[in-house]
Amino acid sequence: MYEDKTLVCKDCGQEFTFTTGEQEFYAEKGFQNEPARCRDCRMSRKAANNGRRERVMYDAVCADCGKETKIPFNPTNDRPVYCRECFEARRGQE
Ligand SMILES: [Zn+2]
Ligand SMILES: [Zn+2]
Repeated sequence: MYEDKTLVCKDCGQEFTFTTGEQEFYAEKGFQNEPARCRDCRMSRKAANNGRRERVMYDAVCADCGKETKIPFNPTNDRPVYCRECFEARRGQE
């Protein structure tokens, strides 16, 4: 009744297999939608969403002092990123 399906991940653009086992699992759970992401991206999203467990941290360079820092969100180019000290210092000024 089920066949392996090849889907394209919404996040990384890689093809991945929606296996018969997974399809059965989805049907059992009553999920209407096929998975939009590959296993890797789903896992990293789960990790990112679960703040209490290990957080995915991204490398960034502070826009103020140039120090390397880690931030809990994916840095985008249109927003400056600050290290903890600069962030605190800037917040203190406002
Ligand atoms: Zn992916
Ligand atoms: Zn800084």
